[in-house]
Amino acid sequence: MVAFALSPPQQAYLDITASDDKFAVRRIYCIGKNYLAHVREMNQDERDPPVIFMKPSDAIVRNGGEIPYPVFTNNFHYECELVVALKSGGYNIPRAEASKHIFGYAVGLDMTRRDHQANALEKGLPWEVTKGFDHSAPVGPLTRVEETGVMTSGHVRLELNGETRQDADISLLIWKIDEIIAKLSEQHKLAAGDIIMTGTPAGVGPVVTGDVLDCSVDGLEPMQVRIADPAA
Ligand code: MN
Repeated sequence: MVAFALSPPQQAYLDITASDDKFAVRRIYCIGKNYLAHVREMNQDERDPPVIFMKPSDAIVRNGGEIPYPVFTNNFHYECELVVALKSGGYNIPRAEASKHIFGYAVGLDMTRRDHQANALEKGLPWEVTKGFDHSAPVGPLTRVEETGVMTSGHVRLELNGETRQDADISLLIWKIDEIIAKLSEQHKLAAGDIIMTGTPAGVGPVVTGDVLDCSVDGLEPMQVRIADPAA
């Protein structure tokens, strides 16, 4: 038994549809540049492999939550994404085995300080300032893979104040979900509780205080979050 000098931080978690159980989140991995139309709108090289980055687990915001407009940005963007949650993991998972590690799926938002991303790309700086800040990881309720089956297609959509801004299909992912799991496990030991944001389609854009974001993927629980007044 370890005696902590201070109370341990709260465990981040996600809701699970049709269940009182919660999903404890360990790590949040994210895949960038995984839909061709988005690579093009960001003026990036179409032949570059997708990038991998992470967010802290305490950046999770659940369905119905509020995102205080963050400090240190004047260009705060939404990126609606399919999220994959893992029930097990390991190193060097073969692509053919990857789907066996999936717990379920959810809708998520990779919230981004876009102004700092441009600067980080230009100067070769780390991405925490653009991707890994407070409230940057809204994720809706998880639906278990037993209910959805292994997902390879499905309409993904984001509405900003009721207007459709992102509208694509998961089948357009450049790196498929089983490839992402296999590739990630070459670099990191994946484990139960890890979630993966799989990349955003084209149509990203800025939000302001008061905006409402509705994210959906066919077959999953939708998620709604609101941009609130700046954090005090
Ligand atoms: Mn993203």
